Amino acid sequence: MSRFVQGWCLIGRHYGLVQFIGPVESHGMRAPVYACEGCCEYMRQYIRANTAQRDQRPAV
Ligand SMILES: [Zn+2]
Repeated sequence: MSRFVQGWCLIGRHYGLVQFIGPVESHGMRAPVYACEGCCEYMRQYIRANTAQRDQRPAV
């Protein structure tokens, strides 16, 4: 499903095999972001931790 290409990993700021992870926006401009598998795993862990943290909040 994911397509890896040679390019710049914006998360780890290094060159290697990366995949498109989505666009970023700043001041009304948009650019594509690519990240390597190691940095994607780091982001998945961040998302899991963030989601778990959010789930612990009381529902109001
Ligand atoms: Zn990386």
